[in-house]
Amino acid sequence: MDAGLDKVDAIWEKETAIIDGIDISGPWNRMFEQRVIWEYTPELIDKVADLPGAESFSWCYQCAACVPVCPVDMVGDYGPRKLYRKAQTGTDLQSADDLWLCTTCMNCVRVCKKVVDMVQIMPAVREQAVLDGFVPEELQKAFEDTAKYGNPLGQSQRKRAAWTKKSDAPVPIIKDVKRPVDVLWYVGSYPSYHPRGIDAALAAARIFHALDIDYAILGREEKDDGDSQRLAGENGLFEMLAEHNISVFEKYEWEQMVVTGPHEYNAFKKEYAKLGFERPIQHYTQFLSDHLDRLSPLLTHEVQAKVTFHDPCYLGRHHGEYDAPRALLNAIPGLELVEMGRCRENGYCCGGGGGGMWLDSFTQNHTTMRLSERRVLEAAAYGADILAVCCPFEVSRFEDAAKSTGNDQLRVLDILELLDMSMRGEI
Ligand code: SF4
Ligand code: SF4
Repeated sequence: MDAGLDKVDAIWEKETAIIDGIDISGPWNRMFEQRVIWEYTPELIDKVADLPGAESFSWCYQCAACVPVCPVDMVGDYGPRKLYRKAQTGTDLQSADDLWLCTTCMNCVRVCKKVVDMVQIMPAVREQAVLDGFVPEELQKAFEDTAKYGNPLGQSQRKRAAWTKKSDAPVPIIKDVKRPVDVLWYVGSYPSYHPRGIDAALAAARIFHALDIDYAILGREEKDDGDSQRLAGENGLFEMLAEHNISVFEKYEWEQMVVTGPHEYNAFKKEYAKLGFERPIQHYTQFLSDHLDRLSPLLTHEVQAKVTFHDPCYLGRHHGEYDAPRALLNAIPGLELVEMGRCRENGYCCGGGGGGMWLDSFTQNHTTMRLSERRVLEAAAYGADILAVCCPFEVSRFEDAAKSTGNDQLRVLDILELLDMSMRGEI
């Protein structure tokens, strides 16, 4: 029964009513006197909606379309409708653990008729929480490492290009090239430092070299894009990183930028653009699929495997790119691509977005399993040998999840690694 129904004093109901031949007798025409719902506190909804960017929180009309598509709800109890209802009944989102569970995956926004926009709401509320010092410890560490070292892994800025020493293909650093280049490759933090990210970076370098792309990287001048920190509430840190990166981007002459990660793609295309940086940018899958006529003949070795692909939220839903990664996978001889049920527009989330990358322990206390584990179980259920990804956050997340769920047979590979395997025959 609705909250407050016992407060209704009068009910009107015509025993017989037929209008335009339609029988709406009895309860079908029931009217209540104006109801007052006592058991909710609009103040806590207003507290959220009054924050710049979070206005749409108050537009929710509780239809619940968002709940079944929310990846967090599939392993817990979540979704915008539930957050709104909790705020109505006394939960202050700003100091609730719920605040940190949303990955800003955007699946709820996709289905919400009222465009209640969690991708705007969450960073706005989190920013206030950060200012008030209410931040989960592990996230705070990622913020501090980013501020101190320029990357959330806490690695030395001077070693940002150290991975290039392992490369058998040349990786030019733009300040040493001393001439304009066609492509500025923004490598990103995880491909620069994380061992599995470096594997993808080395594969990219080999592919670019084989395609004879005139490219260079920024080396130690490159810093983290900062977008995930912004989404997790650290807007000041984001602005500092954006200012640094934009000044470095503009120091050199180049025609277009290629980025390894969807989060960097989102950062530069949407957020840095708001700060005046508007240049041609492609995610590597888009760039390489534009070069498929030259890339395909290089893919000479078969990759005999059943492969499924995980759409990254920030390439798919956030930017509408679903075809480029699939075009690359389909170009690999021998590879059989199988789609999971939750793919493309309704793709599941790995749990790494919106700061989730640095909140795994915190999230674990609020969900039955990690989102990455849920996804790996789905990939295994489809009989995949390989789970292909194209976001540097995902390789390590899914590899851990494959182990923790007992699916060690499932290999997790970046599309760059698969292309490189087909090029070189080392499978
Ligand atoms: S889909 Fe939108 S309006 Fe409906 S319950 Fe969810 S947030 Fe509210
Ligand atoms: S953005 Fe994604 S994780 Fe956040 S509430 Fe919406 S569906 Fe759930």
